[in-house]
Amino acid sequence: MSEWRTRREKIIQLLTESREPLTIDEIAAMVGEDDRRKIIEDLEHIAKTVRKEGKRLLMEPARCNKCGYVFKSARVRPPSRCPRCKSEWIQPPRFTIR
Ligand SMILES: [Zn+2]
Repeated sequence: MSEWRTRREKIIQLLTESREPLTIDEIAAMVGEDDRRKIIEDLEHIAKTVRKEGKRLLMEPARCNKCGYVFKSARVRPPSRCPRCKSEWIQPPRFTIR
């Protein structure tokens, strides 16, 4: 079994069993993968995989900690700065599978 396949299966398990939605950083730490970009790719792939099983990858959108702006975008990639106040103090998106 390839390395990424094992990791994606672990992430699916984590997001299915976790009570609270998880951030990309939390997922990375739990599966022991330092490269956040790999986790982002995994999540984009997992969104399609779980749909086949009748489940959904749900995302709590990112939010600006300074002005409260909620990022509307449904993309997995976390934004780096707020379009309204330009703050980089961003509450990252959180993920769960239901
Ligand atoms: Zn802001």
